[in-house]
Amino acid sequence: MSNTSTLAGKAALVTGASRGIGAAIARRLAADGAAVAITYSASPEKAQEVVKSIEAAGGKAIAIQADAADAVAVRAAVARAATELGGLDILVNNAGVAIMAPLADLSEADFDKTFAINVKALFVASQEAANYLPQGGRIIHIGSVNSDSAPFPGLSAYSMSKGAVAGMNRAMARDLGPRGITVNNIQPGPVDTDLNPATGPFADTLRGLMALGRYGSGEEIAGLVSYLVGPEGSYVTGANLKIDGGFDV
Ligand code: NAD
Repeated sequence: MSNTSTLAGKAALVTGASRGIGAAIARRLAADGAAVAITYSASPEKAQEVVKSIEAAGGKAIAIQADAADAVAVRAAVARAATELGGLDILVNNAGVAIMAPLADLSEADFDKTFAINVKALFVASQEAANYLPQGGRIIHIGSVNSDSAPFPGLSAYSMSKGAVAGMNRAMARDLGPRGITVNNIQPGPVDTDLNPATGPFADTLRGLMALGRYGSGEEIAGLVSYLVGPEGSYVTGANLKIDGGFDV
């Protein structure tokens, strides 16, 4: 547990947190003092590893199976998290896929799957979470710099989805502002995960585009989440915030 415990007494749900950025966010929010629920789709062992690492550090965590492509399961997972944690103060919509293919090869099924996981699931989870979030509640979406830039071919579906998140973010902030709930979209640049390994085929191209010339870490993204969902983030809402090592500046 951190010394500050800025989130003591709060309950948080992080989607798709069995690995990568989501796992780092779950660990950070638990270290800040929140009880944390994570969702996973297909890796119960990895999800349990995240839960155990949080418990070993003195925190509280539970794992819930929910395929983000299944709106009924997403809604049920939010309700279950709120029930098991005794409420819900923070939702982090992190789960996402990056299906890349040149326009000619991108199937409609992959376009629809990208939309279901990267956009519709965020809408469904946020709508359900809004039934529980109190005054001071927080919603974070994990978008991407690719909402505004496509530095190599094959990003039609992915960029579409992250652009949709940026637009939806502004509108949700307007809807929930009167209730004192903030909604923000964190847009990472390249972060070293299974989705975008720092040793992958695009890595050198991406490093060349960044002022800092390196990949970020899940922990660096989690630090911005921690700020936005904590007490000091209370006046930030509707923001699409790049955290990208100076990507394409
Ligand atoms: P990752 O592939 O390591 O993790 C993605 C997470 O989402 C995993 O926990 C996975 O289980 C979960 N997920 C995927 N499909 C799911 C489904 N159908 N149901 C439930 N969970 C599902 O990727 P990551 O890099 O950690 O990505 C996390 C988020 O950050 C994504 O929204 C991604 O678009 C975004 N992002 C990543 C980068 C990057 O460079 N890594 C950059 C910008 C944005």
